[in-house]
Amino acid sequence: MAAAGEPHGSLYDTIIVGAGIQGSFTAYHLAKRGKETLLLEQFPLPHSRGSSHGQSRIIRSAYPQEHYARMMAESYRLWERLEAEAGTQLYRQTGLLVLGPSADPEFQSCCRTLAQHRVPGQLFTSESLCRCFPGIRPYCGEVAVLDHTAGVLYADRALRAVQDGFRRCGGALRDGEKVTGITPGVVVTVTTSGGVYRAKTLVITAGPWANKLLAPLGLQLPLQTLRINVCYWQEKVPGAYGVSAHFPCLLAIRANQASHHIYGLPSNEYPGLVKICYHSGSPADPEERDRLPEASALPDIQILCDFVSKYLPGLGPQPALVEHCMYTNTPDEDFVLDRHPTFSNIIMGAGFSGHGFKLAPVVGKLLCELSLGEAPSYALEPFRICRFPAQPHSAL
Ligand SMILES: Cc1cc2nc3c(=O)[nH]c(=O)nc-3n(C[C@H](O)[C@H](O)[C@H](O)COP(=O)(O)OP(=O)(O)OC[C@H]3O[C@@H](n4cnc5c(N)ncnc54)[C@H](O)[C@@H]3O)c2cc1C
Repeated sequence: MAAAGEPHGSLYDTIIVGAGIQGSFTAYHLAKRGKETLLLEQFPLPHSRGSSHGQSRIIRSAYPQEHYARMMAESYRLWERLEAEAGTQLYRQTGLLVLGPSADPEFQSCCRTLAQHRVPGQLFTSESLCRCFPGIRPYCGEVAVLDHTAGVLYADRALRAVQDGFRRCGGALRDGEKVTGITPGVVVTVTTSGGVYRAKTLVITAGPWANKLLAPLGLQLPLQTLRINVCYWQEKVPGAYGVSAHFPCLLAIRANQASHHIYGLPSNEYPGLVKICYHSGSPADPEERDRLPEASALPDIQILCDFVSKYLPGLGPQPALVEHCMYTNTPDEDFVLDRHPTFSNIIMGAGFSGHGFKLAPVVGKLLCELSLGEAPSYALEPFRICRFPAQPHSAL
């Protein structure tokens, strides 16, 4: 167990529930600001049962939504700072190709936000794409834009680095301690499987478990938890789709009429295997993630098989390896960053769906600012819970 120090009789400034990437960054920012901070995690660390495990995540500025594109410049800077503090590589620049029909509004928005934020980019026709990236065959005549600054974050290493940074600043991390009760008040009391703790503010960053913690506090967010198949595909020629061969990350919009994005990362984490995944999955409770559905209930894998055989002919036609992870989606796939509508010193960060890792340094900063009662660095309107019908306004 990674517990630091003894159970604390006195009052913490903030307790954070959940040591995934969002809770860990929130804790890191608070501890850097000199706040007495306790980070609680139900499982012994490291673990692979939430959303932050695995070796790789994509980082990119190519976002169709302006509010995320705006946050990315600071996010890159904060990742760089963490990398320097940790003295280990957390990011590898590979570039990312957004592939899509040229007239698609989402594709056009990505091109627009890249230009607006002066991110180095490059447009490709179908023909120039095939010339520059012979491993990709744009099957339906799509075009592409390359976000040069994009790349791969080494996720497991990054999570460990931010938790180590938190502890170096004096923060206390207690893993293997499940939060079983929260009593709201001017001072919030948190009961775990290992003790009772008190704090002026509480931040809940519990990933797919968020609604289980919020239910006794009289709140249910419109979150959908999905089991995601993380698929790896064998290269026919070893290294052809690798980082050393300068193969970029990929984000395919409406490829082959798919309803959700398909994304890919060059081979690196498993030699000879390229990660290609569907940006959706099947509804599942996080406690039952590994109860496998019938093969017929795996339409995402069939969609990926079709995509790979048409667009990436240098890969084997079936996944060579499938791992699992959880998404927590809101109906509009925007995050929730807000206060509890009744208990203003309880703050929630949830619904980070399949794209929250890269933004975690900024999300953590915003949750830190909310818990300190400071004006947030970015407008929080897209993230407030009042955007959902039938959800009350937060207690401001
Ligand atoms: C397959 C996959 C691919 C992805 N790809 C990308 C990508 O390329 N780029 C990108 O930016 N993002 C990506 N994401 C999204 C990103 O990984 C998530 O948004 C992010 O990891 C969410 O972190 P979290 O801290 O909210 O949740 P989690 O990592 O799930 O952390 C929540 C933590 O809370 C703990 N907890 C819950 N209940 C309790 C309790 N009662 N007591 C104590 N602890 C509790 C859990 O055990 C868990 O550790 C991907 C996600 C997946 C699953």
